[in-house]
Amino acid sequence: MTDDDPADEAGAEALRTELRAWLGAHLTPEVREAIRYRQEGTSHVVPFEALREWNATLFDGGWAAPSWPAMFGGRDAGILEQLAFNEEMAAAGAPGPVNAIGVANIAPAILTYGTPEQQERFLRPMLRGEEIWSQGMSEPEAGSDLASLRCRGVLDGDDIVVDGQKTWNSNGDRADWCQLYVRTDPDVPKHQGITCLLVDMTLPGIEVRPIRTMAGDAGFAEVFFDSVRVPRTALLGELHGGWHVATRTLSNERAGVAVMYLHLRKKLDRLLEDAAAHGRPGPVARQALAARYAEVRILELVCKRMLGAMVAGRMPGAEGSIVKLAWASADQALTATAVDLLGRPAIDGLESAGTWSWDLLGSRSLTIAGGTTEVNKNIIGERVLGLPKEPKPA
Ligand SMILES: Cc1cc2nc3c(=O)[nH]c(=O)nc-3n(C[C@H](O)[C@H](O)[C@H](O)COP(=O)(O)OP(=O)(O)OC[C@H]3O[C@@H](n4cnc5c(N)ncnc54)[C@H](O)[C@@H]3O)c2cc1C
Repeated sequence: MTDDDPADEAGAEALRTELRAWLGAHLTPEVREAIRYRQEGTSHVVPFEALREWNATLFDGGWAAPSWPAMFGGRDAGILEQLAFNEEMAAAGAPGPVNAIGVANIAPAILTYGTPEQQERFLRPMLRGEEIWSQGMSEPEAGSDLASLRCRGVLDGDDIVVDGQKTWNSNGDRADWCQLYVRTDPDVPKHQGITCLLVDMTLPGIEVRPIRTMAGDAGFAEVFFDSVRVPRTALLGELHGGWHVATRTLSNERAGVAVMYLHLRKKLDRLLEDAAAHGRPGPVARQALAARYAEVRILELVCKRMLGAMVAGRMPGAEGSIVKLAWASADQALTATAVDLLGRPAIDGLESAGTWSWDLLGSRSLTIAGGTTEVNKNIIGERVLGLPKEPKPA
């Protein structure tokens, strides 16, 4: 069956109806209250344990990740069904799994490169939110240029002994497991000497130091490894084959791009409501809101163009960089406009509207997360516009 098969469209409609009914029964006012992000004094509180419980409810209902294979808790959903799922979840304001990075990035690597034992051991607890995962790629001297990573892994009998440091580990302060990239061969070209490991974060020699962000939360950590003996069974893929794991894993969640415009559309609706209730009316405010509306709509169209290509069976390439840029700049402009128009109540946190100041501060990270703006501009320049390659340092 192809993705634009009428049967697939019927399947998407059936999924939509079933999910709407399920959300009606399970996303009760009590659950909504429990999973609401709140402001307490100057702290922004993420109700993590309540979100984890909601994650388990989603999993038990078969709704944690429909794109996953059914044998690991998904539904083998096609792209139109995935899109219907994302639209219904966004419309209901229903959060997804707590292991966002695990489900979107680590699980596809385990599905592609993992042994049957690793798949059996890790995937279900990850999707149900029973075990929290982080991704250990970036280091103080290796970010955009990930292949320069230095954290060492030295083979010693049945173990790989890890020494070094990782940073900007999302979820690192809570993680039970880490998908860790280490240098196992320093004597070959840098892309060829990297290995991926699935590391138990309770092993002796691991120290996690949470990093508090300017938005007030501790969603990141630095992680230090001091002669940590990781068993060889933790290898994901081949020894020295980590670059393939990092770059050649295709996600089965192909409609994930829709989440960007769906979430931003919700934020825009929230802004329009708040501006009507608390904002300063006038032509300048109207012009700013119209500009934000146009940006969100453009993002939606760019995302839909990418989705359309995938439905037609084409693999998106550098368009992903255009979507990333459009998303980051639209979100940053939207949250800045909210604080401009709403003034003090936006900073203090509006009970009706959530906390725009947290959104504003959080949105700054979008210039960096998932590929920086400058790196994405280079990709667009070279691969979309066909401009000459940027000169590389000798
Ligand atoms: C919200 C968030 C979540 C993150 N989560 C994780 C995580 O879970 N795990 C993890 O390992 N890391 C994570 N990171 C780290 C992220 O991957 C890195 O911050 C990112 O790769 C950039 O690396 P860097 O910070 O070292 O900056 P650098 O790569 O040092 O870049 C510094 C500046 O130089 C520019 N630059 C770099 N190279 C070029 C070039 N070739 N051409 C032009 N300009 C260039 C960049 O655009 C940037 O402005 C996260 C970051 C954020 C913001």
